[in-house]
Amino acid sequence: MSAPVFDLAIIGAGIVGLAHALAARRAGKRVVVIDRDAQANGASIRNFGFVTVTGQQQGTVWNRARRSREIWAEVAPKAGIPVLHRGSAVIAHRPEAAEVVAAFVASEMGAGCEMLSPAQIADRLPLLRHEDASACLWSPHELRVEPRRAIPLLAAWLEEQLGVVFLRNTLVKAIDLPRVVTTAGIVEAGQAMVCPGGDFLSLYPEVWARRELDLCKLHMLRLAPQGAGWVLPGSVMNDMSLGRYLGFAELPAAAALKAVLAREEGPSLDNGIHLIAVQSADGSLVVGDSHHYAATPDPFAPDAVDALMIGHARRALRLASDRVVERWIGIYPHSKTEAALIEDAAPGVRAVMVTSGTGMSTAFALAEDALAGWLR
Ligand SMILES: Cc1cc2nc3c(=O)[nH]c(=O)nc-3n(C[C@H](O)[C@H](O)[C@H](O)COP(=O)(O)OP(=O)(O)OC[C@H]3O[C@@H](n4cnc5c(N)ncnc54)[C@H](O)[C@@H]3O)c2cc1C
Repeated sequence: MSAPVFDLAIIGAGIVGLAHALAARRAGKRVVVIDRDAQANGASIRNFGFVTVTGQQQGTVWNRARRSREIWAEVAPKAGIPVLHRGSAVIAHRPEAAEVVAAFVASEMGAGCEMLSPAQIADRLPLLRHEDASACLWSPHELRVEPRRAIPLLAAWLEEQLGVVFLRNTLVKAIDLPRVVTTAGIVEAGQAMVCPGGDFLSLYPEVWARRELDLCKLHMLRLAPQGAGWVLPGSVMNDMSLGRYLGFAELPAAAALKAVLAREEGPSLDNGIHLIAVQSADGSLVVGDSHHYAATPDPFAPDAVDALMIGHARRALRLASDRVVERWIGIYPHSKTEAALIEDAAPGVRAVMVTSGTGMSTAFALAEDALAGWLR
């Protein structure tokens, strides 16, 4: 029998599928990426584009985030992807939040980070409201890209410069290697990597059923351009983030903060809200987010949730405008126990899913891990 046309078929052209395409091409493989949508439409274009190291859970996730950040820094200029922020600021409003910042900076994960006093915030981060801050964590490690531009640019670079073949508008219905059965006919490949994002029912549902997944729905919104000279130096988070992101929240010092947040921030906690604010090239701000978990999330986005998110942004930032100019929701698959899954679905078929909101930050390294020792 002649060799299949492709060494590897990747199902899914989100950041996880694209990261696998990059790693497989660099291993010299002939790669096809197949996606049912005509253009990118999933979580990978709906997120903040916040490539986050600081705050990721210590251990595997943090290590993958550091490696992935290196790959973003290398690939972004090659693919023509603008990097809009370098670094992040976590404003600590409450003294208990400042204690978490101090503990973080003193930990292994705090290398290169700084704890700023209110006076230093006023001096170095004047768009942050230092008068309502106990401290601020400044991290130089983060990058921010505009996902709705970055994902198509990354795919175009993989196609044009690295020779990856893309089949869009093409649903993969079944895999029986070397046959990948699609709505556009049979694609022949030696191995297959399934990167389906939140769609864990169309291929190998039994594999995912073992993992007790649900879906997380997030509200996102865009505030109007803030005007000339209003330029955020990095992505911005707040006390709620220190209580939520596991790299902070698992520190012993976070217990006191979480107790205060439970008393004072009930409505935000009930809606899984913490602050991320990032700025786009036109000066507008992407602000979020909320987290609602369900087997089938409803499609509704109540304004009360957005109002809570805007309240956090107002408290942290000297906003020139809080006019909302765009709203959307995003969905990602979620596991209560695992940040990402690498599953052997069938002989020659692997399935990879980021089951936490960290795919932009970890996918490149996750792909290297998933392919290592498996690619033939
Ligand atoms: C609102 C929001 C904000 C977020 N913010 C951040 C952030 O700032 N930083 C961060 O690190 N992470 C963030 N995340 C998480 C991150 O976006 C996800 O972890 C990541 O995008 C997942 O990528 P993916 O490739 O697995 O999924 P997707 O981008 O959803 O791609 C999956 C693709 O698979 C295709 N597909 C599925 N089944 C088939 C099939 N049978 N045949 C053909 N195609 C198929 C789909 O069409 C889809 O295009 C956020 C997520 C959301 C929703």
